[in-house]
Amino acid sequence: MYTKEEAIARKRARDNAAYAKRIGRDVGNAGRPANTPDVLWSKVDKRGDNECWNWLGYKNEQGYGRVMINDYSYYAHRVIYNLVHPNVITLNAPKSSSDMGFLLHTCDNPSCCNPKHLFVGTHLDNMRDKMAKGRSPDFGGDKGPRCKLSMSQAKEIRELRKSGISAKELAVKFNISLSSIKTLLRGKSYKE
Ligand SMILES: [Zn+2]
Repeated sequence: MYTKEEAIARKRARDNAAYAKRIGRDVGNAGRPANTPDVLWSKVDKRGDNECWNWLGYKNEQGYGRVMINDYSYYAHRVIYNLVHPNVITLNAPKSSSDMGFLLHTCDNPSCCNPKHLFVGTHLDNMRDKMAKGRSPDFGGDKGPRCKLSMSQAKEIRELRKSGISAKELAVKFNISLSSIKTLLRGKSYKE
């Protein structure tokens, strides 16, 4: 038996060998240059200290840069921040809403990688920040007016209410009725 990492490494080696055979030369990481710090920096449009440094590589639907390192995909702004300030945050975005280590933009530009425009906060900071800037929190998935909330969304709504955001404001932001929000906040729906 192999560990997950060994299995991935072996598969990558096989894929690379097959690819090298097909094109008649060895290309290392399946034709993709390894994302060393030099390569990573070459994908950043580095400008003045206080300007936005946009990610020039692949961006997701929300406009955040994404980059592969050793077969895993990470947020580009986290990767760049990590190069400048090692060991402050992990490359992986935090999973739980109670975790620290969310990396927020002061400039509201998802593609920006300027470390001066980035700061570390909690998930709640992140949500409040987005609401303050008039954007809905991005939970992914359906956002239509009639679609039901996920349990994690329901949990976020309760957390946001506790942090002082009004029920009315939450109803607007999550695009559901005030009575639905109140039912949820009373714990009558979306029971945990
Ligand atoms: Zn910026």
